[in-house]
Amino acid sequence: MAMPELAGCWFILTGSGKFFRNVQLDPADTLVLLQVDDDGKGYRIFWGLTGGGLPTSELAAHFQSHIVRMAASQGRDRIIMHCHATNLIALSYVLDLNSAAFTRELWEGSTECLVVFPDGVGIVPWMVPGTDAIGTATAEQMQSHSLVLWPFHGIFGTGPTLDEAFGLIDTAEKAAEVMVKVRSMGGKKQTITTEELIALGKRFGVTPMEAALKV
Ligand SMILES: [Zn+2]
Repeated sequence: MAMPELAGCWFILTGSGKFFRNVQLDPADTLVLLQVDDDGKGYRIFWGLTGGGLPTSELAAHFQSHIVRMAASQGRDRIIMHCHATNLIALSYVLDLNSAAFTRELWEGSTECLVVFPDGVGIVPWMVPGTDAIGTATAEQMQSHSLVLWPFHGIFGTGPTLDEAFGLIDTAEKAAEVMVKVRSMGGKKQTITTEELIALGKRFGVTPMEAALKV
């Protein structure tokens, strides 16, 4: 797939089948530095993968999401991160796979959530990973959401820095863990109300995803 929007851009990625845990121990083997060709049709590797291997199998989802977020954030978002966040995956088995409902549940999972991801969580249907098709579906959701859930698989998050992208995913994952515990204890007896969510948005100057307020 040609990506003229990324022509000449540099990326640092993890290798396919490499472990996050090993990145800090052996970055030269686990990471890869590459530059997209001038015509956007391929890339050249400049550094990394010293033990062999290929860039992440989710290259399509990363590249297509970068194209969308570069435009959506006026160039601020430079990171696309994917991981298999346990509790977000668990919730994808028990909640409706509906962006507004899923977002609302996470917002209620911790007071900071609406402030950290006011634009909510996008959801793609279950699809075979590592394909252009799941990349396209993910990028479509990235137009309006900084988090995209892959049901029964994991999460994609974006942000200006690694810390911010990680923090975003970590915040959603913590809320998901809270909701897993709440369900395990028999369900909610009380929660954050719609009026309180609206007040949170006003106090912190963010515009919450409308559909999630109406759930
Ligand atoms: Zn994955």
